[in-house]
Amino acid sequence: MGTDRLTTYRRLSQIAFILLVFLMPVLNILRIDSDTHELILFGTSWSFGIQPELYADRGASSAFHIALQVFLKGILPWLVFLAVFPLLGYFTGRLFCGWACPEGALFELSDFLTLKLIGRRDLFNAHPNDPPQAKGNRPVYGTIALASALIIPLAGGVALTGYFVAPATIWSQIVNWQFTFGVKAGIIGVAIYMLITSIVVRHVLCRFVCAAGLMQMLFGWLSSRSLRLNMDVSRISACTDCKGCDRACFMKVSPRKNKRDISCVNCGACIVACNKELGRGNGLFHLGLGSGQCSLPEENCKNLQPKTVVQ
Ligand code: SF4
Ligand code: SF4
Repeated sequence: MGTDRLTTYRRLSQIAFILLVFLMPVLNILRIDSDTHELILFGTSWSFGIQPELYADRGASSAFHIALQVFLKGILPWLVFLAVFPLLGYFTGRLFCGWACPEGALFELSDFLTLKLIGRRDLFNAHPNDPPQAKGNRPVYGTIALASALIIPLAGGVALTGYFVAPATIWSQIVNWQFTFGVKAGIIGVAIYMLITSIVVRHVLCRFVCAAGLMQMLFGWLSSRSLRLNMDVSRISACTDCKGCDRACFMKVSPRKNKRDISCVNCGACIVACNKELGRGNGLFHLGLGSGQCSLPEENCKNLQPKTVVQ
């Protein structure tokens, strides 16, 4: 994968995950049935599968059967679910945050629109890594920002409420403009949360609050094989000090420090910026499994010593 395509693939991956989040309750892949209070998983109702008469039977075999079902259908799935982010962190660092998380994508969009409107990422303060001359056509970007601030949080509210109330029910309430308290509270609550975090908090939430991010951070940090950003220190003299890498980083990491930074989400924006400055494949950064190895982008790996390239 070349650096030109790195950003494109990252955006496609973010869009695909957002679509998945929207479609999972609609396609009955994952949601709670509000009538039966059961979990719907891939179209089937996920219950313990214990017949009522088994509870009445005080025999050892019934007790064993109940315990086994609770373990297999209650505890084990939770353990698997809770293991997802530590495992992701162990093998891919915070790749999920940079390539899939819908909140991360929303915060990047907010950064982009704020840059275009007032020339800095943060609404309240300027930061050393704000890209210069980033302002754009204010009426155009102002309209896009306003539309985004209205549509995206409400759409997010509808999507997430769909995990707890049947999407068909929500849709019919929207069409008839008559809402039950639960649906109204779900949509408005999520929308307010999304609006506030995307305007005020943004990546501070990713760095210090998000539990999924913190688990990936911790296990990525502990792992010697996790995917991470590396720098080709043997060519450090090629650096022009353009600061493009620092300015590209919305997580406020300083890529040139070449230290494993737990805030890095492996987005590759600094790789793209450095390749732009030094020429295709000549940039100083790459993503690798563990330190000193190179996995992506291919054009950067080719410029490294062959022994450091992972196929
Ligand atoms: S250091 Fe580079 S790869 Fe890591 S978050 Fe910042 S821009 Fe993305
Ligand atoms: S983008 Fe590359 S050349 Fe520019 S400051 Fe960063 S490491 Fe140096």
